Amino acid sequence: MKGGTTDYRWRDVGIATLGPMNARLRRRLVLVLPLLALGCAAAPRERQANGAPTQQPYVLVLGTAQDGGYPQIACDRPCCAAARAAPWLTRGVVSLLLVDPRSNKRWLFEATPDLRDQLELARGHGGPAPGTAGRPALFDGIFLTHAHIGHYTGLAHLGREAYGGEETSLFGSRRMVDFLTTHGPWSLLFEDRHLTAAPFTPDAPIALAPDLSVTPLRVPHREEFTDAYAFRIDGPSRSALFLPDIDKWERWERAIEDVLAGVDVAWLDGTFFGPDELPGRDMASIPHPFIVESLARFEQLTEEERTKVRFIHLNHSNPATDPASDAGRAIRAAGMGVAREGDVFAL
Ligand SMILES: [Zn+2]
Ligand SMILES: [Zn+2]
Repeated sequence: MKGGTTDYRWRDVGIATLGPMNARLRRRLVLVLPLLALGCAAAPRERQANGAPTQQPYVLVLGTAQDGGYPQIACDRPCCAAARAAPWLTRGVVSLLLVDPRSNKRWLFEATPDLRDQLELARGHGGPAPGTAGRPALFDGIFLTHAHIGHYTGLAHLGREAYGGEETSLFGSRRMVDFLTTHGPWSLLFEDRHLTAAPFTPDAPIALAPDLSVTPLRVPHREEFTDAYAFRIDGPSRSALFLPDIDKWERWERAIEDVLAGVDVAWLDGTFFGPDELPGRDMASIPHPFIVESLARFEQLTEEERTKVRFIHLNHSNPATDPASDAGRAIRAAGMGVAREGDVFAL
């Protein structure tokens, strides 16, 4: 079974894997169970039955694929044929949930096309109590990195054709908020008061609780509609970095190593494993740091630093989608890991 090849380093940073029994996760239980055992054994903090901490804020990973998801539409190549034959390999589009059990509040990072399934994954992790009358807001806020399709189009599920809930703060850059409020169908979400615009300022922390904040960091990334951001999440004890899209490490004004040094876990752009992944396509037009480049760059870091890295936003062509692949083994051998839906990281 493929579960035997999973990333045992997760226990070193206190990541546990859990999952409410939604259909997709149930199919993957063979992969998840060994991690659940490891995560619980290594994390003595007070925990709910589902593995999440009861006292401190935590991040739950809701999705790990590039914008098109995995398998990707109409892909008949071996990458996606493998996922259709082995559903535990499938991945929802990149998304995180930040939960504060002390207040029962929760915040969504990225509204993906898979939001409907991801809300099932989020069940039991904060949010409105079951049976609450009306259409209570599903989240206490939604943070968006940028306006590429995998990162915001799930907002459609919040409109009048679907949930149509009470107001939710939409945290985005000035350009992101302007884009949404001036273009249909998104503008209707604001006019109908399902969303409230909450434009953020780069580098300025947004306080969610006295000891919990989110700081947007500007990153270079193709700017078709908006600029792009990463988020640093600071909790009472630990911090996390969420950086799903960036052109190349060298094009960032910050050194990724410096940012990594200031956090305890980092979900980093792992879109492509290497440069030969999309035959016939100019990969310079869709720049991302190849995982092989990141492995080489981070080789100089201490083991403690490398253990923080979790690659996320994997394209369907990325062989590391399969933990049993040579690519998956190479990442683990380098002391890093690949993010999985259901991962929990306590802050
Ligand atoms: Zn993306
Ligand atoms: Zn494919």
